Amino acid sequence: HQVLLNSVSLELRTPLTSIIGNATALQDEKSVTNPESRQSLIHELILSTERLNRIVDNLLDMSRINSGTLQLKKEWFDARDLVEETASRLSRSLGQHPVVFDLGTKQIYLQGDYRLLDHALTNLLLNAAAYSASDAQIKVALQVKPREVFLSVIDQGQGIAKEEQHKIFDKFYRVPHSPAGGVGLGLSIVKSIVDLHEGQVLVESAGLGQGATFTMVLPLIEPPAELKDGLK
Ligand code: ADP
Repeated sequence: HQVLLNSVSLELRTPLTSIIGNATALQDEKSVTNPESRQSLIHELILSTERLNRIVDNLLDMSRINSGTLQLKKEWFDARDLVEETASRLSRSLGQHPVVFDLGTKQIYLQGDYRLLDHALTNLLLNAAAYSASDAQIKVALQVKPREVFLSVIDQGQGIAKEEQHKIFDKFYRVPHSPAGGVGLGLSIVKSIVDLHEGQVLVESAGLGQGATFTMVLPLIEPPAELKDGLK
């Protein structure tokens, strides 16, 4: 556990250092009177705080899932709302990446724990951003199959070598030489959350430099009739 504790602590330190640095700079009169530098300091401050928040979210959900204390909610919602709300909440962290949607025109009913599925999708979107060029497109697609809903995040990044693809869902696993800024928890949480919903996560990548597609396959459940008009 020593190694894990080490990497988690290091991971927490990066955003914390940035928060302290930017907050300190904001105290400086000069930066506060120059609107541009003030805006950029505030922007950095918010980004680092969001990053810190996500690390803590990942750790908390991981320990809830491991301890079996997690109560899975069964809410009905439109999968398209989930995608749009999650992507829009992340717009700052997704930075320059153009995000395109292929969500169809009809409501897609999903039953599950909205907050957890939002968390899973968040991890996939942030990975797509982290492992591709800073202006590379990210696509989110929804497809309804006879028994399942496919929710895919498609990036144009570095991709994942075949021999790594079965390892990346392991807790604390990172592909060797991955850029700093992760602890290898994100995908294991995605997998746990999707498992709790009796679904599965698929990864496709033709290989290095070919982009990656992560798909959450969730069971399609017919909603009760009275629900069809009044979703959240
Ligand atoms: P982290 O991103 O913190 O390393 P994850 O569990 O989210 O942890 O991912 C595990 C590894 O899988 C990453 O280190 C990275 O090498 C690889 N990976 C995840 N998502 C992608 C992606 N979209 N493109 C390429 N590699 C990815």
